[in-house]
Amino acid sequence: MSFSTLGLSPEILLAIGGQHYSDPTPIQSAAIPHILQGHDVIAEAQTGSGKTLAFCAPLVQSLKKSVRPRVIQYLILVPTRDLATQVAMTLEALTKNTTPSIKLAVLFGGVSINPQMLHLRGGADIVIATPGRLLDLIDHNALSLSFVRSLVLDEADRLLELGFAEELQRILNLLPVARQNLLFSATFAPLLNELATKLCQSPVRIQV
Ligand code: AMP
Repeated sequence: MSFSTLGLSPEILLAIGGQHYSDPTPIQSAAIPHILQGHDVIAEAQTGSGKTLAFCAPLVQSLKKSVRPRVIQYLILVPTRDLATQVAMTLEALTKNTTPSIKLAVLFGGVSINPQMLHLRGGADIVIATPGRLLDLIDHNALSLSFVRSLVLDEADRLLELGFAEELQRILNLLPVARQNLLFSATFAPLLNELATKLCQSPVRIQV
């Protein structure tokens, strides 16, 4: 299997080539075509499986570039600051040569909220956030989730483990009902399965 058979655009293929990945990993081969088609995806994938690129590449390709002022089209929820940074790095590598430019906002707690509020002025195209800080920023009217087209729950098991369940529910209530849902997790305990079933419409299930 090669990246060029997955439906990715020349622009994205060039960006992936720049990272010297020769072939897609199994999660990338399985997930990318479905995400490009707009399906909901529930994927059991470990850290290190290549799951980050598996959702970032098709989302970047499907971003509506003509939307101005910038509205948040994708919300990527992560359990930790480290993971937020890692996802942001993958997105930056995919978007650095894109015109018009794509604006990311990386939002996590444990640091001052003010620079994040400033950064959100003028909107953003893609938000990568931990749930608590995202809600803080929403409470400060720093951003709106009304136009989110795709939601990603990355390391969803850890999102629930860290006691984010209530925060997650508050966030879900703020999202448009019609949206794409992508859920990646290393494990699927009953609580997560329940959430996944509630969240997703006719999801494609992937296990690698
Ligand atoms: P993950 O945390 O599952 O997203 O895995 C990320 C790690 O896999 C990073 O070190 C990436 O550089 C690496 N990676 C992602 N896609 C590929 C690929 N197709 N071939 C080789 N390494 C990859």
